[in-house]
Amino acid sequence: MKAAYYYGIGDMRLEETPVPDIAEDELLLRVRAAAVCGTDLRILKAGHFKIPEGSRRVLGHETAGEVVKVGSSVTGFDVGDRGAALPNVGCGHCRWCLKGLNQLCPDYEALGISYDGGFQEYMRVPGRAIQRGNIIKIPASLSYVEAALLEPFSCAYNASESLRTAPGDTVLIVGTGPIGACHVMISRVAGASRIIVAGRTDARLELSLHFGADFTVNTSRTDLGQAVMELTDGVGADVIITACSVPEVQAQALELAARGGRVNFFGGLPRGQEIVPLNTNLIHYKELQVGATTGSSVLDFHQSMRIVASGKLRLADLATGLFRLDQIHQAFDYAAGRQGMKAVVVMDD
Ligand SMILES: [Zn+2]
Ligand SMILES: [Zn+2]
Repeated sequence: MKAAYYYGIGDMRLEETPVPDIAEDELLLRVRAAAVCGTDLRILKAGHFKIPEGSRRVLGHETAGEVVKVGSSVTGFDVGDRGAALPNVGCGHCRWCLKGLNQLCPDYEALGISYDGGFQEYMRVPGRAIQRGNIIKIPASLSYVEAALLEPFSCAYNASESLRTAPGDTVLIVGTGPIGACHVMISRVAGASRIIVAGRTDARLELSLHFGADFTVNTSRTDLGQAVMELTDGVGADVIITACSVPEVQAQALELAARGGRVNFFGGLPRGQEIVPLNTNLIHYKELQVGATTGSSVLDFHQSMRIVASGKLRLADLATGLFRLDQIHQAFDYAAGRQGMKAVVVMDD
């Protein structure tokens, strides 16, 4: 079979390799769709602390496929089952895992990072991932591409839950990438009455309208603060999500939040830029709730699957670039190009 191995910074090679053997507590998944994530781009550019130098790894943690082999001690799965993989596998016994918050487990392992991921034709699913519920069966109404995109969507779902986005809310999303689009979709489903998306790329701002945004602001031409205040009659936004990695946007979010507003610092900041001066009096006197979410839990993933299967949003349209596995480098270039949305590697018959 073919597999795209990451060997080190800037070094990814498509190679011929035997189909993995599985142990009795494992599954073999025939990968049908694997989306390229910003994390994959970052690993190829800068490495990852969980991939030691001198080892190789198949990246790709937004993955879906078909079960083709079931270890003898595995229960609950049959050959032919269609499944999506939630990458972060918790340890199962720390206090966060016990609360169902596997995304906060300090001893997590991850498909596509500590185990070989989706940019290969067949993926071995470790027993630990099966036992922790990280392979989720998907209904027939969901395509493999949609199933692969459940992972980023579930992260936006987690944010929306934490923000308690509700009917009547004005939501401001700063950032026009695929994650920004996921925030638009889930905010729409949550009932937001107005969604404003801000960013610097016209092509992507245009796309965000397709996913359900009501207004867009190109911040390279227009002052964001002025635009938001005009659109909200000087009130500000009830919910603000910083889906970008710009420190100043975090500080500005406090200014643009309405009284009683909720803010989610969704995008992490580059190392060295994470100390941000914030006017905490804005938090105090406006009674803001400022927080963040990272990743998603197994439950978030299940809920996301139900929402997407309901047909209320256009998750499949996020896959604006489809590639074959032997075009893996083009897929990465497409994702890094920031013009379309998601690059998805699709493996058909
Ligand atoms: Zn991802
Ligand atoms: Zn744990």
